[in-house]
Amino acid sequence: MSDHYDLMVRGATVVTPAGATRADIAVADGKIVRIGPDIPGAASASIGASGLHVIAGIIDSHVHFNEPGRAQWEGLEHGSCALAAGGGTSFFDMPLNSLPPVTDAASFALKRAAAERLSRTDFGIWGGLVPGNVDQLEPMRDAGAIGFKAFMCDSGAEEFPLSDAATLRAGMKRAAELGMVVAVHAEDEALARARTAEQHARGTDVRSWLGSRPVELELAAIRTALDIAGETRCGLHLVHVSTPEGVALARDAKKLGADVSVETCPHYLLLSDRDVIRLGAPAKCFPPLRPDELRLGLWRELEGGSIDTIGSDHSPAPPEMKKADDFFSIWGGISGCQHGFELLLSEALARRPAEIALPFMSALFSANVARRFRIDRTKGRLAAGFDADLTFIDIAGEHTLSNRDLLYMHRQGPYDGRKSRVRIARTIVRGRTVFAQGRIAPGATPGHFIRPS
Ligand code: ZN
Repeated sequence: MSDHYDLMVRGATVVTPAGATRADIAVADGKIVRIGPDIPGAASASIGASGLHVIAGIIDSHVHFNEPGRAQWEGLEHGSCALAAGGGTSFFDMPLNSLPPVTDAASFALKRAAAERLSRTDFGIWGGLVPGNVDQLEPMRDAGAIGFKAFMCDSGAEEFPLSDAATLRAGMKRAAELGMVVAVHAEDEALARARTAEQHARGTDVRSWLGSRPVELELAAIRTALDIAGETRCGLHLVHVSTPEGVALARDAKKLGADVSVETCPHYLLLSDRDVIRLGAPAKCFPPLRPDELRLGLWRELEGGSIDTIGSDHSPAPPEMKKADDFFSIWGGISGCQHGFELLLSEALARRPAEIALPFMSALFSANVARRFRIDRTKGRLAAGFDADLTFIDIAGEHTLSNRDLLYMHRQGPYDGRKSRVRIARTIVRGRTVFAQGRIAPGATPGHFIRPS
């Protein structure tokens, strides 16, 4: 009997860490069965991909889709559709901004059930570390948490309080025993309060607000987190690091043997503080966008190999929360899971040749995330036996991004009008097309829950 597949991708330029080669991809039962030139045999469906690059599906390790409880801020369906339109095949949803926040097994189960109903892509779920819930880390680990997330400063959501040093220490000690990674939002609360009081007394405009979140907040918190992680021998994941100095602290700790990984976000590499001044609320986030010299320093750290993963930190809010006379009181969070990855790829292609830039960025988007969060038996690679999560990109032309094309519930974003030389042509999750030709495929079935192995 000749080979028969569910899907055959013909003539793609397949990007792996080793480079890019022209090949076919054969898929059966949601898995990649074979990759190679001119694969013989028939398939139930065939996709011509000549002229397109295929990278391993993007795994966004950091989103806030806010459901259950605050689905009017985004919701799992809108969020996952937008992610798929931006090339994402999986996401890890953060424990806060949904109601209840995910801080025990019961709230974890609620989030999982909602996502299994509504998500168009695969998904993992972060558990929260907050004061008083250390005994809940094990039940959440057993429920399949991808890791635990803590805030070192006020999170903006009163039901998700910050972790002081004692909470972090107890939480990291327990997480280490459980073999789990703790992720921290690293900004120092005492410094944040002091700088906010000083700057708010001087003015309520965007420049005063920028002055209230200087680099020292991030560095102080990273130092504290690295100290506690070292003491407790806990795996530490620093989310949304915004400065090259912050990356350097982690790099130095790694050299001394610390188990630490660094995430940054597309917006810290694509935008600067001048964009906050220009755009206002859509570009307000924590930590804030930095001056251009720091942005370029972050690129150097990225290209030097000191940044491990890219997460969008997609953090939307309803329009009424994104405007106020006092810039300090506007909700902080950038909506970026749809346009951020393609624009970052586009910028990477402007900096280095495609044969270097694409494998390099693809590892940051996918393989490194899968390895760090132990889903690398099934995801993160284009190879036989792995889930057929495929992101098709077109780098042949340039197009202009528009907020009108956003699939978010609220079409806000900081990239309106930017030119991109990367277009997401198609997104396939476990062999099924979720996004193609500029729209979500009708009848896409819900995504699967992902848990660490
Ligand atoms: Zn976040």
